[in-house]
Amino acid sequence: MFNASLKQLSDQLAEKKISSTELTTEFLKRIKQLNSEYNAFITVNEEMSLDQARSADQMIAAGQASALTGIPIAQKDIFCAKGWLTTCGSKMLSNFVSPYDAGVIERFNQVGAINIGKTNMDEFAMGSSNETSYYGLVKNPWDLSAVPGGSSGGAASAVAARLAPGATGTDTGGSIRQPAALCGISGIKPTYGLVSRYGMIAFASSLDQGGPMARSAEDLALMLNVMVGFDPRDSTSLQRKVEDYARDLQKPLSGLRIGLPKEYFAEGMSKDVECAIEKALDEYRKLGAETVEISLPNASLSIPVYYVLAPAEASSNLSRFDGVRYGHRAKSYSDLGDMYRKSRAEGFGPEVKRRILIGTYVLSHGYYDAYYIKAQKLRRLIAQDFTQAYQQCDIIMGPTTPTVAFNLGEKSGDPIQMYLSDIYTSAANLTGLPAMSIPVGFGNKNRPIGLHIIGNYFMEAQMLNVAHQYQQVTDWHLKSPV
Ligand code: GLN
Repeated sequence: MFNASLKQLSDQLAEKKISSTELTTEFLKRIKQLNSEYNAFITVNEEMSLDQARSADQMIAAGQASALTGIPIAQKDIFCAKGWLTTCGSKMLSNFVSPYDAGVIERFNQVGAINIGKTNMDEFAMGSSNETSYYGLVKNPWDLSAVPGGSSGGAASAVAARLAPGATGTDTGGSIRQPAALCGISGIKPTYGLVSRYGMIAFASSLDQGGPMARSAEDLALMLNVMVGFDPRDSTSLQRKVEDYARDLQKPLSGLRIGLPKEYFAEGMSKDVECAIEKALDEYRKLGAETVEISLPNASLSIPVYYVLAPAEASSNLSRFDGVRYGHRAKSYSDLGDMYRKSRAEGFGPEVKRRILIGTYVLSHGYYDAYYIKAQKLRRLIAQDFTQAYQQCDIIMGPTTPTVAFNLGEKSGDPIQMYLSDIYTSAANLTGLPAMSIPVGFGNKNRPIGLHIIGNYFMEAQMLNVAHQYQQVTDWHLKSPV
């Protein structure tokens, strides 16, 4: 049961071979048994999950089921869910039980999916290793001495360890794709604006985007069908025609032009990663695709640009955590200012404080033009590179990460090294382009490697087709660490 794909479980539910109550009970048991090993979940609430499962069974009996009815989904603890502790991995929100549902949670609830628990994550989604969580680090099921990636490390670990068939993640600079790559699963960050940010605790609003994480492209398509949709409560939500993201899965790839950015295939990528990516590209050529060299001359600026803009937005977004209406409040203080200072000093961890300091600095009088405005200009240039590249190709490929998962503790003392984990992923957030990662092999110490696929705006169905066709002729996505 635990190795079955989300699609297979969905079929079994529809054929009434199993009930959602049974399925949910089994996954809850497995989480209870194994979570102490991985620390993938912050909160599990058997009663609430089973309540949902019973309603799902009623929906199925009444003939109102769709693909995700009755399916357990692990929800990143950045999504507010009514009645659930919603911590965002922070002490600041360690006492926050959400009074409302995020747009994404609402959409899962409407189709009768089960919230199987809230997953661990880097504090306020700031990190690439899940080591900044107030709730402790998460382990990579492939190797317990390796990081799972971050910030959606709990989600990736849970899916890889078969604690859930699918999970939600959020991606501001790579937080869906990098942990997916490091844990050997699939994940997609949709085009900016497709998935509602309402109730998704804000990190850097112009970059944040929610998306699904699962084992296969086919499963991602089913989840995306539920997650995407206009939400008037998110001012950047896009109003578009409803799409079926699974519609093109079976299309042959002949004639597909894959762009390979020469800047991504230069030094920086480790040998084992390069080798797996080359093999994956050979597979695509066998499937009828052709590869063309392209150039993204400003791509190398993505990390510096990201680390000006993301902290700038974070410093503003996180000012709401002041100890007044919700979240952590210091026990003793002398006046209002003192309460703000003490509550924030106690509630935020070191990485979050570092980001707030950087963000406040680049937005301050005298530095705003030199850093913030400059970064915005470069952001536009990076986007133009992609627009030009898409005149020569249909889709772009490269490595998701420069190396396989690093060891726990290896980079936690060196923020700059940690920031470089997102060297290939952050451009998709700066441009708003959709991007995904799929497993394509193993490297150093037998740790997983991810192929990064960047599509043009709104080309999610095509990207899932491209990923699915590869997964029809290879079995990396079926490999299990447990
Ligand atoms: N690793 C990046 C950071 O620390 C990206 C995180 C994310 O995508 N949420 O900011």
